[in-house]
Amino acid sequence: MINIELKNYEAWFITGSQHLYGDEVLKKVAADSQAIVKGLNDVGSVPVKMVYKPVQTGPESISRIMQEANNSENCIGLVTWMHTFSPAKMWINGLKVLKKPILHLHTQFNRDIPWDSIDMDFMNLNQSAHGGREYGFMLSRMRRNRKVVVGHWKDAGVQKQLDEWLRAALAWHDWQGMKIARIGDNMRQVAVTEGDKVEAELEFGYSVNGYGIGDLVDYVNAVPDHRIKEHLQLLESLYTLMPDIHEGGERRSNLKEAARIELGMSDFLDSGDFRAFTTTFEDLHGLKQLPGHAVQRLMEAGYGFGAEGDWKTAALVRAMKVMGTGLNGGTSFMEDYTYHLEPEKMKVLGAHMLEICPSIASGDISMEVHELGIGGKDDPVRLVFDVESGPGINVSVMDMGDRFRMLVNPCRVVPADKPLPNLPVARVVWEPEPDLPTAAAAWIHAGGAHHTGFSMAVSAEMMEDFADVAGIEVLFIDEDTNIREFKKEIRWNDLYYHFSNGLKK
Ligand code: MN
Repeated sequence: MINIELKNYEAWFITGSQHLYGDEVLKKVAADSQAIVKGLNDVGSVPVKMVYKPVQTGPESISRIMQEANNSENCIGLVTWMHTFSPAKMWINGLKVLKKPILHLHTQFNRDIPWDSIDMDFMNLNQSAHGGREYGFMLSRMRRNRKVVVGHWKDAGVQKQLDEWLRAALAWHDWQGMKIARIGDNMRQVAVTEGDKVEAELEFGYSVNGYGIGDLVDYVNAVPDHRIKEHLQLLESLYTLMPDIHEGGERRSNLKEAARIELGMSDFLDSGDFRAFTTTFEDLHGLKQLPGHAVQRLMEAGYGFGAEGDWKTAALVRAMKVMGTGLNGGTSFMEDYTYHLEPEKMKVLGAHMLEICPSIASGDISMEVHELGIGGKDDPVRLVFDVESGPGINVSVMDMGDRFRMLVNPCRVVPADKPLPNLPVARVVWEPEPDLPTAAAAWIHAGGAHHTGFSMAVSAEMMEDFADVAGIEVLFIDEDTNIREFKKEIRWNDLYYHFSNGLKK
């Protein structure tokens, strides 16, 4: 199943306490926890199902529930809350074995102090203020990455942070065991799309394996004509076709072939249970065209994609698609293609040879055939469209040799200064934060790739949470970026990872 059904996934809500206070207090703690879980599920502020788990009061049951969380196929992470004080040595063995991401919700059941009625019973029941610190000490003592969210649980800002983190945890869950098909190898001589696939599997949980183009061609050739016929009707209903690919048109055969390629690719990915894939225009033996609209539509269906063998970006695009499930805006594979360098109006035109995802399209999508200058194949079919203005982000992942690095750069999508009648590809125009010269210089200092995951659904905060869960270095290029400080951050991080990796590398 390539699409994510959010409600199939669970986050476990685990409350910490202890036996010291007696049964009455523990009953109240349990009731309050259940009320929070119900409240969060009812308002729909959490993307997955929040599941109440019994209040934890001792090391044995804590170890047990952590192991259960590890073994649960649908549990994407734990939301933990210390309603009272919960001595943190009780948590050591459980936290040591826990493999799932943790969020520490530093809240309390009541929002306000009941100034008129507060007594010591109330104080003993509502101790998150210091109970949360004891628990936090242990997580810090164990050098455990986690999200800390502070505020009342009904607060919109708190719920937004929960939503963002749960989406990041879901994308991480999706990466575990994910299979990426690398159809063909890397584009020859290109550096940044390469990397250590073994290390990626160790750190991130997804596997990247190579397939010959012939493996795909077998599926493409096996597509029966009646499916192609039906599929052409679907394409005609969805897109505005240029005249020469209409029925009877001069290049109708190009469209038929493109439809065959799309169905064959879809069958191939389905049969191997892949959630992301790469192609390369240098290896198309047996395919009559570079897959253009096929890749575009498969991305729209939810597959991660990277061109020219770029498996890191394919994995990233898939993760961003999972994070953005059900949100407005889309996510696409992207490339910084060319610049507009007019002072004060600098912007980037993002596109690719063909493969931009229609999930980010606004307005009509036109289906067209044009010559492709490279690859030496038949003219490929592609979907051409523009993208609505609004906030977006570009994200990139590189293998720096001793670690993977993620770069996150928010941007503002803007209209093109003029229509682009001669540009036969989907395109986006954006102004990066804080401005193009700073953003591009920082990106280049950080070794940022030319390929990115671009999204108008996923926030920088989600990417930050995802990087934390994944344990990947993350650098932000945003309104606060200053090149001099940014270069220092890179140098300090080099030192940090050198030591923290220890003998691992
Ligand atoms: Mn490229």
